[in-house]
Amino acid sequence: MSKKIKLLAAKQCATYNGHNGTCYVTDADCKPLGCPYFERAVLPTDGALEMRYWQARGAVYNDMPTCVQCGQVYQRKSNRQKYCSDCAATKARTRSREAMAKRRANVNDSGEK
Ligand SMILES: [Zn+2]
Repeated sequence: MSKKIKLLAAKQCATYNGHNGTCYVTDADCKPLGCPYFERAVLPTDGALEMRYWQARGAVYNDMPTCVQCGQVYQRKSNRQKYCSDCAATKARTRSREAMAKRRANVNDSGEK
């Protein structure tokens, strides 16, 4: 994730010096992690990355539950929900595929993506 953070900083941060990767404010190497300007002004331009950023730093993002599979914040639809909609769909697919594999034991599903 920190690579993505750095890329975002390089692309969006107004104080990023594209010539040598330093910060115009600190005059040192750009360190977006923990940079107040980056957190306030740059990070919100990428919502998905912003969520992961705060999660990685141990912050609770708007008190929303996070997916046990991928760590993504999701909208809770039921109390027992543990996965985001993406992972829930993947899980459902895996389940039906396993059921299918049981029925047709000679069919190998490893080639499917
Ligand atoms: Zn997920």
